[in-house]
This record gives sequence, C-alpha cells and structure tokens, in this order.
Amino acid sequence: MPAQTSSLNGSAFDTFRETYIEINLDHIAHNLHSIRAMCGPQTKIGAVIKADAYGHGALELADTLTENGADLLCVATLSEALALKHQNPAYPVLIMGLTRTQDFDFLIQYDIIQTIDTLSQARELNACALRSQKTARIHLKIDTGFHRIGFPANEKSLEEIAQIAALPGLQIDGIFTHLVLLDDASNAQQFAAFLQMKTRLAQNHITIPCWHIADSIASVDYPEYRMDMIRAGAILYGLKGFHKGSLDIRQALQFKTRINHISTVKAGEGVSYDFTWRAAHDTRIATLPFGYADGYPRSLNGKGMVTIHQKRVPIAGIICMDQCMVDLTDVPEAQLGDEVTIYGDGSDNSLTIQEISQLAGTNKNDIVSRLTRRPPRIYTRGQKPVMVRTMLD
Ligand SMILES: *Cc1c(COP(=O)(O)O)cnc(C)c1O
Repeated sequence: MPAQTSSLNGSAFDTFRETYIEINLDHIAHNLHSIRAMCGPQTKIGAVIKADAYGHGALELADTLTENGADLLCVATLSEALALKHQNPAYPVLIMGLTRTQDFDFLIQYDIIQTIDTLSQARELNACALRSQKTARIHLKIDTGFHRIGFPANEKSLEEIAQIAALPGLQIDGIFTHLVLLDDASNAQQFAAFLQMKTRLAQNHITIPCWHIADSIASVDYPEYRMDMIRAGAILYGLKGFHKGSLDIRQALQFKTRINHISTVKAGEGVSYDFTWRAAHDTRIATLPFGYADGYPRSLNGKGMVTIHQKRVPIAGIICMDQCMVDLTDVPEAQLGDEVTIYGDGSDNSLTIQEISQLAGTNKNDIVSRLTRRPPRIYTRGQKPVMVRTMLD
C-alpha cells in the first residue's frame, strides 16, 4: 500500500508519516540578512546551531547560513562540531562549551576552534598541537558573573592568559563572556568587567582580534554590546525574545500533521490514560499521530490546542508517546485526512512557538530544541520542498 503523503511531499520527498516539521529556508536566509543589516559589515555573525540548530537541523541549515553571511558556526559539543566537519571540513566551527582533554586530538585533526577556560587546558591543547606540528585555534571564555564556565575576571586570570598567549602551538582568535540578562544594571556590570579585561590585556600588550558578549537578545536590545561578533541563536530561527530593539525576522518552523482516525465518544465516556478527560456530551474525537516522543511537551495535558480549519481545538486527555486526541466539537466539518497545525507562525490562527512555550511554562528555545529526530523535516525554498530528512537519513 503506498504511503499517504503530506501536502508538501512529492514522490522524491516522502516522509513515510503524516506528522512533519516544515522549515522555511527562505526565512532563515531572510533573518540572516536582517541580522547583517542590523549589525553592519564590521561585526561578525556567529550562527549558533547547537542542539541540532534548535531542532531545525544543523547539517541541513549549515550551507544556507554560511552562504548568507554567517562567519562562524557555533555549537556546544565536540560531537556537534564533528558532525558539521564530516559534512564539510571547510565550515568554520567554534565549540562554545568545554571538551575533554582526551579528545583534543580531534580538535587539531579537524581544525575546530575550542573554548578554553583554564591554563591547564591550554597547555594540554598546546602539547597536542605541537605533537601534530599544527596550530590550535581557541577562544578564551571569561566569567563575568554568570558562574557557568570561564576564567574569573581578575588579575590572576590576566597572568594566566599572558602565559597562554606565549604558547607556540595556540592561536587566540577570540575571547568572550555570556550575559545573565537579569536587568540593565547587571548587564552593564558584566560588560564593564569584560571591557576592564580588554584594557588590562592591552596594557600587557596582548591583543585578541574577536571580542564578543551578545547573544540574540543582547544584540538586538544593546547595540553597544555587539563588539566584534554576535552569537545569534534564537533570532536566526525567527524567535523573538528581545524587548527594546526591533528586528524584522520570520519564524522558520511549523509543526503539522493530519487527522488519521475519528471516533464518537458517548457522554460520560473517557479518553486516553486515566480518563482525565470525559465527554460532557456525545463528542467527535480526532486522533492525531504525534506525541511527546516527537518532542511535544507532555506538560500540555489539559492545556494544549491545535489548529484545524483555522479553529483552535483542545487536546482531549493525556498526550501519549506517539498519538493524542482532540475534541472536534467546534469543528464539525473536520474529516479524516484534514491538515492540522500543531504549532505554526500564527497564520491561519495557529498557535505560535511563543504561545506554546507560555502554555508549557517554558521558553521558546526549549520548545524547539526538544523536537526529536523522529518527526521528518521538510525544507522549503520558494514554498517548494527542496530537501527532506527522515529517520532513514
Ligand atoms: C546558546 C548560546 C547562545 C545563543 O543564545 P540565543 O539566546 O539563542 O541567541 C549564545 N552564546 C552562548 C555561549 C550560548 O550557549
């Protein structure tokens, strides 16, 4: 029996399933051009594509990003960096987290830029580089108050950085810190501590070419924090978390499925595990083939809604691992096979990622980065599918 295909599938783009994630590559390119227009030609753009590009697909977005002005691809882990380098050894990749010293040879072999936050790590990496007769590229991380990773912003660290700068196997490409984003005063305090490090390093005749502090929110809200590079994550994908500035960006991701079963539940009967939902009257119930194992928050039990025929329809009962049920009372015209937007960009009355994150009591990045590999991704340009990623890829 041939697989039923979604509206976006041609035979070359089969998803083997009704549930899919649509990623608009034109929107990603548009967002990058807006970010470039915002920060000007002098400031580099580090495109943050950790966590599989926040669920959008890091390998699938990498070329769109580098072709539209991203200067660096930023990830969190060595495995994320290696996956990119296996696709194209020429991608410029920065690991913003720490890497185990026993894995340092990979950094050198694949020319991956590594974040360093202790003198001992720097010495280990230097030794690996010299053994291979190569130079390892690094960014130094400074802790200006977040208390995650980084050299403390103090005199002892300045001495250690001077020692690192003298190591022959290392090249210091950049130096960065990360904002807590509590309020203007705390941001200003962190920025001042970072600038103080810059002044003190200059007094010690140590110049580092790329200074960076701003993530998405800071780069829009605080133009003076853009420095030599911004690290843009959320805004690449069209997710707006900023408050003061403005930036013309478009959400790239939509999550869709189709009704694949309809039943009538009699008044008083329940739906799904534990019967947390019971029919107040005879009710048409649609079953949708997506669940929490696709990355939809199970915490939306009793709160989640999807959009069918431009109407918002409540989820009925507990969300299962692979399926969930919705109450069709307000959409009598709904039929088997009808399209459902699980969440979208707000068009056709769809719930946005912003709304879903509020309902789930979390942030937008958490909603998209939790999307698993199981739902196929369909990538579009000019409204047409150009690439598909399924579990088989
Ligand atoms: C994830 C991350 C970013 C990007 O954050 P957004 O808020 O998505 O822009 C920037 N810098 C570091 C160090 C990060 O870990």
